[in-house]
Amino acid sequence: MKMEADLIVCGAKVLTMDAGRPRAEAVAVAGGKIVAVGSDAAVLTLKGPGTRVVQAGGRTLLPGFVESHLHLGLGGSELMQLQLGGVYGFDAVAAAFRDYAAAHPDLAVVMAQGAGYGCLGPGVPRLQLDAILADRPIAMTSPDHHTVWANTAALQACGLLHGAAMPEGHEVVMGPDGLATGELREFEAFGPVIDHAGLRRMNLAIATGMEPVGAGAAERAADALHFKRGLAHCAKHGVTSMVNMDGNRYTLEVLSLIEAEGGLTARVVVPFHMKPSMGLEELERASEMHASFHSDWLRSGFVKMFMDGVVDSRTAYMLRNYPGTEARSVPLFELETFRDICTDIDRRGLQIAVHAIGDGAVRQTIDGYEAAALRNGRRDSRHRIEHIELIDKADIPRLGALGITASVQPPHPPGAMDFPFSPVMEEIIGKDRWDDAYLWRTLKEAGAPVALASDWPVTDISILRGIQAAMTRATYEGGKDERFTLMEVLHGYTAGGAWAAKLDDVTGTLRIGMAGDLVLLDGDIETTPFAQIGAMGVALTVSAGRITYQGGGIA
Ligand SMILES: [Zn+2]
Repeated sequence: MKMEADLIVCGAKVLTMDAGRPRAEAVAVAGGKIVAVGSDAAVLTLKGPGTRVVQAGGRTLLPGFVESHLHLGLGGSELMQLQLGGVYGFDAVAAAFRDYAAAHPDLAVVMAQGAGYGCLGPGVPRLQLDAILADRPIAMTSPDHHTVWANTAALQACGLLHGAAMPEGHEVVMGPDGLATGELREFEAFGPVIDHAGLRRMNLAIATGMEPVGAGAAERAADALHFKRGLAHCAKHGVTSMVNMDGNRYTLEVLSLIEAEGGLTARVVVPFHMKPSMGLEELERASEMHASFHSDWLRSGFVKMFMDGVVDSRTAYMLRNYPGTEARSVPLFELETFRDICTDIDRRGLQIAVHAIGDGAVRQTIDGYEAAALRNGRRDSRHRIEHIELIDKADIPRLGALGITASVQPPHPPGAMDFPFSPVMEEIIGKDRWDDAYLWRTLKEAGAPVALASDWPVTDISILRGIQAAMTRATYEGGKDERFTLMEVLHGYTAGGAWAAKLDDVTGTLRIGMAGDLVLLDGDIETTPFAQIGAMGVALTVSAGRITYQGGGIA
């Protein structure tokens, strides 16, 4: 009996990301898996009466995108908030807030997302926000999600107006008048605002890594809506696999509800989030999550940690003081403790992903992975470092040598996409360090595996905009050209990401036996000028042979 394909995409410029057969015209999928890759004539022999045939008209067909670092639940919930990305200046922010508040009279806190550092201009943020709206709690989150600014009503409602004791690295910033300025640094400081806004459960996975108490069927159904909204947004951008960079068991349980009703449109990997306050014994929970969730659609199997904060608020841990200051921040884990944690996770056969932005944090993270390899022996660990915004020259070859993935975000370098060049590059990092900043091509050339991502909702999830940013970013004065070529960047968003997520036996390349995870772009990416790639749309997203998004232009 002749096999009949469920779906054939033909007439495409297929970039398979499979070194054995890099190009083709058509791909056929049956039973959720790829059954043929080749010429139109050869693949169309699998066409039967029940086959859906998509004529691609010369568009580029790729493996479905692997988003290597995002926050699905947060992103999904924030799609409901006021979007301030790219909105700068007091008047513009004020107008946006007032319109949004008027349209949403019932919100306990009017929350905005994507508020750029300095978007209100100089001043005390609490008073500036009061000038926008004083009679309702309002708050806005920075794109990196490491700072929230709140007005007096919000601070009062959350008991923060007169300050609050905080663990190291978290701060309710106080003014000379003895009142909070409205700037809340890091999760512990702005947690009460999030709670008051009704988003506590959705934020636990990133804030504390703990589990919600008393979340019954109604709460789970409500939270599932946030994840579904996020999944639909991802499908629209061609994403068929993702690594969620915050996590707890609850996240996996809600996602498994969505899977059970057939709504999981992408493969999701969810970590156990280890906080510095946790003892080694807590890692048992990570092993339990891994044991319970290990399918091709929904799996755990890794541990996420934060080694530092962000450059913008000078909480990224540096090897040298920030220019013009006597401070270089601190690591969130002590080195000795961190070595023991890494060794224990590695021994359990789990992966590690650590947020490390400053060069001090990056070094300490590598030291931890190196200790694990020394004590446990080298294995197929695929540990990874998230962000790597600064790295000391001496540490560059260590990633490749230890097989550590550089998990980096093309939209992040200031000036590359939506984040402004100033003040971060000029004042906070400082010109002396430009040749140590965002050295991603250098890391790749030194042998580090590379995985690319948006860190959504930190930046726009658009993979195509990310591709453009990676290919067009300007060289920082005194630094090297760190742009990726088209094939390098596509690899980082497909096969490279799949390898880094240990999904490379399932997805990330177009070859027979792999999942039918595809993205058809709305054009030929190889002939599109670099500066226009970001404006290109997605024509079709396919997860395991199922169409999860269809843009215009395809019959
Ligand atoms: Zn992140």
